[in-house]
Amino acid sequence: MRCQNVKLFLREPLVLMMINLETIPKDGNNFDFTLEPDWWQNDDSQILGFDSPVNVHICISRAGNNYVLDGRIAGRLKIRCDRCLGPYFHDLESEFKQLLSLRPLHSDQTEFELLEEDLSVDFITENEIDLDDVVRSQLYLSLPIQLLCKEDCSGLCPDCGVDLNRERCNCREEKKDSPFMKLKKMMDSQRAVL
Ligand SMILES: [Zn+2]
Ligand SMILES: [Zn+2]
Repeated sequence: MRCQNVKLFLREPLVLMMINLETIPKDGNNFDFTLEPDWWQNDDSQILGFDSPVNVHICISRAGNNYVLDGRIAGRLKIRCDRCLGPYFHDLESEFKQLLSLRPLHSDQTEFELLEEDLSVDFITENEIDLDDVVRSQLYLSLPIQLLCKEDCSGLCPDCGVDLNRERCNCREEKKDSPFMKLKKMMDSQRAVL
């Protein structure tokens, strides 16, 4: 499918990232834009920010009464590690395909059966979408399930909180020798007998 090119001017991003789907021609429209690091609003999530401008390409086309978003996002993100909570950089290059439907699925199954299986379906109530929201949710969806600064990240000590990648603490050693641990060991061995 061929898409026409549309230039987005991001001087007023809040207004111009809103796309009226009724204006999308049959062959579709291409939206190409670059998001500068200050576009990202840190919402205390795993994405701490952008390390470089993020390039976005989205083609919106029609599929019957629905719309298909074909997109590509590339850039470098600053992520928070799940284990040590420290920041690290993640090179992102992801593609996505999303179907926007104005109606509930069950009303016309046949139309959906013709579409590819890997398509995610999102329901919309208005003929308008915000590309800001599309990019924001796709950034989250593109992240791996476990976010680690390195595969063998040692994380934080659960007792004293030091970053075990950089420092050592004595918490584990102390625990092994504490009277409580001795008691626990005894109880564990008794339980094993029962
Ligand atoms: Zn880490
Ligand atoms: Zn510790």
